[in-house]
Amino acid sequence: MSYIKLNKENLFYNLQTCADHAGGKEKIAIVLKDNAYGHGLLEIATLANQFGLTKAVVQTYQEAKIIEDLFEAILILADTQIDTYSHSFHIAINSLEDLSRVPINSNIHIKIDTGMHRNGISPDQLEVALLTAFEKKLKICGVFTHHKSADELSSEFFFQEAVFKGLKKDVKKICEKLNLSDILFHSSNSAALFREQNFSGDMARVGIASYGYLDAHEALNFPKLKPVLSLHAKKIATRVLKAGQRVGYGGTYEAPKDMIISTYSIGYGDGFRRLGGKPFTIANGKAILGRVSMDNIVVEGDDDEICIFDDARELAKLHGTITYEILTDQKSNIPRIIV
Ligand SMILES: *Cc1c(COP(=O)(O)O)cnc(C)c1O
Repeated sequence: MSYIKLNKENLFYNLQTCADHAGGKEKIAIVLKDNAYGHGLLEIATLANQFGLTKAVVQTYQEAKIIEDLFEAILILADTQIDTYSHSFHIAINSLEDLSRVPINSNIHIKIDTGMHRNGISPDQLEVALLTAFEKKLKICGVFTHHKSADELSSEFFFQEAVFKGLKKDVKKICEKLNLSDILFHSSNSAALFREQNFSGDMARVGIASYGYLDAHEALNFPKLKPVLSLHAKKIATRVLKAGQRVGYGGTYEAPKDMIISTYSIGYGDGFRRLGGKPFTIANGKAILGRVSMDNIVVEGDDDEICIFDDARELAKLHGTITYEILTDQKSNIPRIIV
């Protein structure tokens, strides 16, 4: 069996660091899409609620339903198929067509494309969008955008931020005429939150930083955070591998001497990818011997259980990817334990 430990103290430390920078817990919306970045949706939502957060962000209606009772406001990023509408649901509007898809009286946040060119309405559609939403009796609760390079050492971030701030003024003018107030303006993900010395948004949508990582250029001098997730596996069997014997598929590891080895119940079927012959040292300092199987790895010794990793950065480097991908790789059927 493999299992995931979620470190509550580290999660709270990361959330507090974000809240301090943003200017209060009420300014943080924790991003819980994709099973809370592989950590476990309900587990992290429950802890975030305990910490005192009142806002969350998910991708789908299905996810929002699961955590409905834990937050005052849940922003649904990309799903207009809402069966039973809840007052805590806030639906992102990614195109003008979305305005006809959401239920009447829905809380909406209009997404503007300020340069990423992925989702959102273009700035010149903004007035039409606001007026249409008003006519359709949708409740305009927020206007937001997303940065394409908040984590890179370039001025692109400031350019997009300036575009958004300009649009904010336009929105405020139109909304004044419509007698609408209390609109939340938000443009920051984790990296963008820390790009601004003095955070100027009404809310930040914080994903990866909650989980203990900021995959950004070192020169940006972001705060050190603490990884929340660690992956563990229990022993299946122990044997002596005699000098010259080879272990596992392809027999790629040959014992240089008689050694005690054990198999552990973890493999690529659990989301721990094959290493393709690259050496990897697990958290206790021992190497994985031979190939990673679907449900087995081999390590020297006979410990009852081992910690495979407690920091996703090394694996991300090894696989030529980002920590986001290593974390979301973790299969949802692995038990989660909060420590
Ligand atoms: C995923 C996502 C975020 C969170 O990004 P992080 O870099 O993990 O903080 C914020 N906003 C939107 C729109 C997203 O899709």
